[in-house]
Amino acid sequence: MEITDVRTVKLSVALDRPLGVSRDRETDSRGASIVVVETDGGIQGIGEGVGPEPSITERIVEEKYAPRLLGEDPLDVERLWSEMLTEDLYWDRKGQGVAAASGIDIALWDIAGKHYDTPTYRLLGGDTSGTGSLRAYASDLFWDVPEQMARRAGEYSDRGFEAVKTHLGRGIDADRERVAAMQAAIGDAELMVDMNCGYDIADARRVGRMLEEYDVYWYEEPLSPYDIEGLAELRRELDVPIATGENEYTKWGFSDLFEARAVDYAMPDAMRCGGLTEMKKIGALAEASGVRFSPHCFATGVGLAATMAAAASTPAFEWLEFDVTDNPLQEAFFIDDLTVEDGRVALPTEPGLGVSLTEEVLEYAVE
Ligand SMILES: [Mg+2]
Repeated sequence: MEITDVRTVKLSVALDRPLGVSRDRETDSRGASIVVVETDGGIQGIGEGVGPEPSITERIVEEKYAPRLLGEDPLDVERLWSEMLTEDLYWDRKGQGVAAASGIDIALWDIAGKHYDTPTYRLLGGDTSGTGSLRAYASDLFWDVPEQMARRAGEYSDRGFEAVKTHLGRGIDADRERVAAMQAAIGDAELMVDMNCGYDIADARRVGRMLEEYDVYWYEEPLSPYDIEGLAELRRELDVPIATGENEYTKWGFSDLFEARAVDYAMPDAMRCGGLTEMKKIGALAEASGVRFSPHCFATGVGLAATMAAAASTPAFEWLEFDVTDNPLQEAFFIDDLTVEDGRVALPTEPGLGVSLTEEVLEYAVE
């Protein structure tokens, strides 16, 4: 089998309600770059690479990587990964180059599943839980008045999610009001808190102590991803576990985090960190370091399907991030119905990742 074409499809969705995070930042649209790899055998693989601007991913995929991949055997995934990412270590050790290659890597694993006629997670090691499903938390709650955030948090726990995540990070008093309201609304469910790198170490320490008072489940990205020592310091000082990793790349980046003992819940993003090939290795490093594996995923159904394949097959896996924001680009990709019951998401049964570029999805395609 040979690769005959590598291209991207850009998607864009305007949001009715902006999604607000720390430091007064918010977004009013969601974009995606879906990577499509065609083969001479007629099998098509799809993946996703995330970044701030789909057209950047498109240029890297189509101008940098596609010429290297045409004519190659798509089943030699490790060799093609090295071709994309270690042959060119002068330029793309982190950032958009790795994210674009992640989208291609995911598409190659989709092709492999279709070629061997089995769901991709089975090629990666099978279902470690033995349940055919993954434990998920509801993601995410965005900035609003405390009453609204509490109401939504309560809706998610009522739907059966055992954990709910929220974005905070706009000062200790405003954060405290919202944590108190949400904890009161979700009963026995757990509350995870994501600061999106919104604090410096002094404020992160004070806010972390406040989160301890409310028995928060994890404290996500309190600091800049550059400050690994600061994360390690917080982890030593606080009882609330530290989660981070969505802004980290490759096994080498995660190895630094683990060696510094800076994280309790590692959150690699399959669409950024180097694809499924790298997710498996980061999962193994996490296991060897006594770190829990809870991948970051806030993307389309393609990214979710890829994340599920990595999560299912990784022994250190703890929680799947499941987008509950009525994202029209999530369910529309799945060939089987996307089934969520009692806070668990069923693994797809179709060969490959179980997703495809449906007509419903292509309604969101943009030039
Ligand atoms: Mg996050």
